[in-house]
Amino acid sequence: MPGMLDPQVRRALAERVRFYRELGIYDFYRRGVYVAEVAEGVPGESAVRSTATFQPELREEMPARNAAAFVVPAATEDNMLEMLAPKPEYGTTDPAEALKIIRADLGDCTRCKLHKQSRKQIVFGVRNPRAELMFVGEGPGADEDEKGEPFVGRAGQLLNNMIKAMGLQREQVYIANIVKCRPPGNRTPERDECETCSPFLMRQIAAIKPKVVVALGAVAAKNLLAINAPMSELRGRWYDFRPAGARSNDPSSDDRSWNGARLAVTYHPAFLLRDPRQKGEAWKDLQMVMRELGIPIPQKGVE
Ligand code: SF4
Repeated sequence: MPGMLDPQVRRALAERVRFYRELGIYDFYRRGVYVAEVAEGVPGESAVRSTATFQPELREEMPARNAAAFVVPAATEDNMLEMLAPKPEYGTTDPAEALKIIRADLGDCTRCKLHKQSRKQIVFGVRNPRAELMFVGEGPGADEDEKGEPFVGRAGQLLNNMIKAMGLQREQVYIANIVKCRPPGNRTPERDECETCSPFLMRQIAAIKPKVVVALGAVAAKNLLAINAPMSELRGRWYDFRPAGARSNDPSSDDRSWNGARLAVTYHPAFLLRDPRQKGEAWKDLQMVMRELGIPIPQKGVE
């Protein structure tokens, strides 16, 4: 449906949706007459601003005490409407099944230019579909591209050590990246690539419903939180995180009640390999996560 809209209407509608999201209103329903009214109306903002034709339904509003900490992930005009559109995985309450549907929807993706650069295969995400803890990195490197699994090289080994230091196994968590294809020369993924790919990650997070998401490095943090700040400011605090497009709780259709995750930021393992002196700082971040998850904190840190 978004593709049918006049560009001006589309822009105005995206702007309005963004405005409501900033107010903490996430879920809308569309009246049966809505499509016809917009399609037949005069193209332009007035067609959208008419409350008679587009009336958002307040189903979930943030409690005031959380509002200051709540972060609305970034969304462009183009992907805002796409993110809000109903998704095929909404038909299942099984997270493993939902992830399969999202993977099938991604297909042999050519949505951004990374598909034709150096990728051998798409690196979707791995391990526990019902994980309480999820790690999100930046993008696949050469080893990940070769094996089709995130964090399998040297940085992956260090991530495994970090997970073990927390008293967990890799099998217990879910691991994914902001972009699913290897950027050439392991460069940082560009903004358009992140914006094109991250809606699929948002859907993965919404399907898994983790208690905690850990952003590994500044690229992951900035893309998830839409905050442009140095690591020194991003780390050491909690963010309430709800992926763009996630539905509010519907206990009648899902017994895994979820109002979003808490998000923490720590250093990317590749950075820690370059500067091992920061491992102590990363361990502090992980201890914060362990406290949140109720995991006893051992004396030994990350090696
Ligand atoms: S990075 Fe993401 S959006 Fe780009 S081609 Fe790969 S899967 Fe598609």
